Amino acid sequence: MHELSVTQELLELVGRSVPQGQLHLVREIKVRVGMNGHLLPDSLEFCYEAIKGEFGLSAARMEIIKIPVTARCKTCGLRFEVQENRYLCSACGSSSLTVLTGNELHLSELILDDE
Ligand SMILES: [Zn+2]
Repeated sequence: MHELSVTQELLELVGRSVPQGQLHLVREIKVRVGMNGHLLPDSLEFCYEAIKGEFGLSAARMEIIKIPVTARCKTCGLRFEVQENRYLCSACGSSSLTVLTGNELHLSELILDDE
């Protein structure tokens, strides 16, 4: 499952981002995920719940911030949101597009409790 390795990488990144000995203080992890269909938020959530304990993050919840896929048409210049992976300009029907957002996957924020 692709989501599992992605989740492992994210949690390793959390481990490297938090000062030593403070991992148990992490309460929330915010992750920005592009909705290009490569990663399913439900699966990410499932994997996260399954393995967070191994990373010392049992007390932390994950919030997924979904980033819509947007593109700009190279033919007519329209910017629009790509719905259901239909990579066609909604104005002129061109398939010549520049994808602007929707491929993201990164750790956006870590929220720690005060000691
Ligand atoms: Zn167009």
